[in-house]
Amino acid sequence: MRTSGRVAEELEKIGIAVARGIGTTGVIGIIEGKAGPGRSIGLRADMDALPIHEESDLPFRSTVDGCFHGCGHDGHMTMLIAAARYLQAHRDEIFGRVVLIFQPAEEGRGGARAMIADGLFERFACDEIYALHNAPDRDFGTIAVGPGPVSASADFFDIDIAGNGGHAAFPHRTVDAGLAALAIAQGLHTIVSRNVDPVDSAVLSVTAMSAGSTYNVIPDTARLSGTIRTMRPDVRKTMSGRLVRLSKSIAEGYGAKASVQIRDVFSTLVNHPLHAAILADAADAVVGEANVDRAPPIAMTSEDFADMLLHVPGAYFFLGQGKGAALHNPRYAFNDAAIPFGASMFVRVVIARSRMAEHTA
Ligand SMILES: [Zn+2]
Ligand SMILES: [Zn+2]
Repeated sequence: MRTSGRVAEELEKIGIAVARGIGTTGVIGIIEGKAGPGRSIGLRADMDALPIHEESDLPFRSTVDGCFHGCGHDGHMTMLIAAARYLQAHRDEIFGRVVLIFQPAEEGRGGARAMIADGLFERFACDEIYALHNAPDRDFGTIAVGPGPVSASADFFDIDIAGNGGHAAFPHRTVDAGLAALAIAQGLHTIVSRNVDPVDSAVLSVTAMSAGSTYNVIPDTARLSGTIRTMRPDVRKTMSGRLVRLSKSIAEGYGAKASVQIRDVFSTLVNHPLHAAILADAADAVVGEANVDRAPPIAMTSEDFADMLLHVPGAYFFLGQGKGAALHNPRYAFNDAAIPFGASMFVRVVIARSRMAEHTA
């Protein structure tokens, strides 16, 4: 709330019309080009922090314990505001309009979907849309963008196992929910190795397990949680189907009962080929052709810009930060020196694309 308020303030300060409260705390800024009619170009930055304690000793480290911009979204906002300043000052050269999209809750909390459900693209029509993410695993001053799949879909699952607890000295009179949970966790690891085509990408990880609370009681219930990540809808469907069947049948084998909940959290992010090429051309100009990776490897991370790309064509790129602590690490630090590259990319794309003839406005 405070962050989105600050963003809105910065935009208003330079005369940009702002709409607040889109999908809870999303902020939209509109820059109207003065050069003539043209396309509507959407640029998106995410705004949220992570529940991590920052361990850097930077003078500008987080002052709120357990709340840290450990994914560099503060840097993304800054780059988009920097681009907005330039574009607003050069409206005479811009056709059409620019829709600045500041999105909350990217870290698995559905901010993109909330903005879309709140009428984002009906109220602020975009012909095409772009976004970036900083990459601390890539050299400083490099850009990576390619067509096709970029990051994975993600489902989060919870498996609740109901047994029949009792005294640890009388195991034969119980149904040990903890033991059933262990068997299920192991069984689930056969899904990728035996149900997914080896040439497809897929991950299934059990990331949380809980059962029992003391030494002399066999647990009555247990819970397993985790994530399924894929690049293709059919693989995603196969995996969640197997997860449900295996969990229920293994539990049954132990005399227990499993109930499974699977939540669709992220879609697969797929770059549209035309718009990936537009970004790559802009990158050639910003960082030089030798520093542009046009066929970066895919990763099984997820990004909720994926949902915006299901509604509006566009593309997403990675901006090298220089090698440092990984995203989501307590010692991660966004490299401010990369700000001009990201801002220049946004500006170049708008200048290259806004004057194109076809538009919806
Ligand atoms: Zn993140
Ligand atoms: Zn991020």
